Amino acid sequence: MSNECSIFQDCVSKAQFRNKSILDIVTKLSEQTAMLDRAVFKSVTHCGCVKINAEKQVICNDKTIEENKCFLKSHVEGNLCPKCKEKVEEEMGDLIFYLASLCNTLDINLSDVINQKQDYLKTLGIYSLL
Ligand SMILES: [Zn+2]
Repeated sequence: MSNECSIFQDCVSKAQFRNKSILDIVTKLSEQTAMLDRAVFKSVTHCGCVKINAEKQVICNDKTIEENKCFLKSHVEGNLCPKCKEKVEEEMGDLIFYLASLCNTLDINLSDVINQKQDYLKTLGIYSLL
């Protein structure tokens, strides 16, 4: 994973041509997040392969975090069809491109970021997200 990440970040560096300014990169990263959101929601509103059935999450204070985790819902019903999955993956790829681009501009190694987060998650486990 670490090597794949470094190879990807290097590819992004070589492909980074038009949006060299950090101002362009940060705004493209935000824009791309919206594009990903749109792709996910279009799978609901235009295709219909998935539905969102949201309601308040119920946390029971007399249960452990692990027990509560079993009852928390994603609010997603169904599965992405191949066409929607392809679109969502495409938007995720573009999002990662701009994230790697930001890393390059700030001289940050994307692999280090992922490894640090992974260590944090391993150390704190479920408590890391409280
Ligand atoms: Zn679909």
